[in-house]
Amino acid sequence: MQLIDNYQRRFKYLRLSITENCNFQCQYCLPEGASNSVTNKPHFLSLSEIDRVVSTFAQLGVEKIRITGGEPTLRKDFTDILSLIGCHQQIKTVALTTNGFRLLRDVEAWKLAGLNNLNVSVDSLSPATFKFITGQDRLSVILAGLDKAIAVGIEKVKVNTVLMKGLNDNLADYLSWLKTHPIELRFIELMETGQGSQIFNQYHLSGQILQQQLVQQGWQLATKEETSGPAQVYSHPDYYGKIGLIMPYSRDFCRSCNRLRISAKGKFHFCLFGEQGIELRDLLQSDSQQDELKTRIFNGLKIKPERHFLDEHRIGITQTLSAIGG
Ligand code: SAM
Ligand code: SF4
Repeated sequence: MQLIDNYQRRFKYLRLSITENCNFQCQYCLPEGASNSVTNKPHFLSLSEIDRVVSTFAQLGVEKIRITGGEPTLRKDFTDILSLIGCHQQIKTVALTTNGFRLLRDVEAWKLAGLNNLNVSVDSLSPATFKFITGQDRLSVILAGLDKAIAVGIEKVKVNTVLMKGLNDNLADYLSWLKTHPIELRFIELMETGQGSQIFNQYHLSGQILQQQLVQQGWQLATKEETSGPAQVYSHPDYYGKIGLIMPYSRDFCRSCNRLRISAKGKFHFCLFGEQGIELRDLLQSDSQQDELKTRIFNGLKIKPERHFLDEHRIGITQTLSAIGG
């Protein structure tokens, strides 16, 4: 059984949100912090519900699971969640997207629990700009955590930087760091969300501008790995690191979509910017419901849209990416 949609896209990659809570206040995501956006004290997927999600999607051919949020590492049972996912033999890649605040303290334990792929959000290498964007004065400890992640042997370490016009868009600021760090730095174009239109209008910048600079400076487009999805990755013989560009506003971005999403409250989402999610939680309460769960997932996949309509400012139900996990 395989997860293939009506446009012949095959899905082996699931992004699983485990919380909507966060301790940062990124301007483009949760400028007021999580407490203002998280209403009516939700309870997020439990360990046993997560186990059933993972088991079912693994049986449907998923090989990579990325844990996201909110800030996933805020959960007290976070390491248990990693171990639980790592126990499923079909899951070859256990990945995490984090703001990095717990990295230095915990990354070694996470590796032992099965983590082998890590994305850390670092929106600037300047402490002042980092603080301005995220509301947190923690850049140095996060960079130390990144070094530790490399030192303990996490296989793939990437950095996500949300591109913001005039704030963090100077390529030169990153180049000396990439000379010595074997990290893929991925610039993500700022996306418009329900709560973020003003920020979007003020700061959105097309990744094509960086793309032109990279090509002019001798960076070359690398071939895509199967699971790398829509990022365009550039490398240069003088640099250890690579630079990835994620440009959701570019033509054909959705053609290489390879990911499905589950929200922290158990909804199945086909697109970050879709109009709906499909409730799965009622079928996550016992192992005996697995066949019904698979049928609901297959039926849901039939309505996955061909593309998003961000270019027309149709942003769907997503108020902030912290709800589904980016
Ligand atoms: N808290 C974790 C973190 O920041 O890495 C995981 C969740 S966060 C929602 C996942 C990713 O989405 C982060 O890399 C973040 O920078 C990105 N993101 C959030 N809002 C965004 C937006 N409006 N446009 C582009 N990327 C966004
Ligand atoms: Fe928190 Fe991540 Fe959103 Fe920043 S991007 S506010 S760290 S969930």
